[in-house]
Amino acid sequence: MHTTDPARRRFLLRSAVAAAALPMLALVPHHALAAMPPLPVTNAQAKALHYIEDANKSDQATRKPDSFCDNCQFHIAATNGCSIFPGFSVAPKGWCSAWALKK
Ligand code: SF4
Repeated sequence: MHTTDPARRRFLLRSAVAAAALPMLALVPHHALAAMPPLPVTNAQAKALHYIEDANKSDQATRKPDSFCDNCQFHIAATNGCSIFPGFSVAPKGWCSAWALKK
């Protein structure tokens, strides 16, 4: 099949890429696709690390003004997860004392 129509070529290329990518979904862990419950501020570890959903309301002196979950190295952007709190999502503008700048 040969075509010189650029729109048709783009369509065929995108279709081929999409078809090739479908089997990759099987490799994504199921928990990564499922919505995770938000981390409760009452969680014992969350309390110990002074987790707060609105970092700007934190009273912790160690918190820097520009530190938030969404720029923390433990934040998992695809799911709003956090490797410190597996199984939970965290607020992108939250914070806890385990915060470390994402590199
Ligand atoms: S470790 Fe980072 S991403 Fe996880 S709750 Fe603390 S500040 Fe947020």
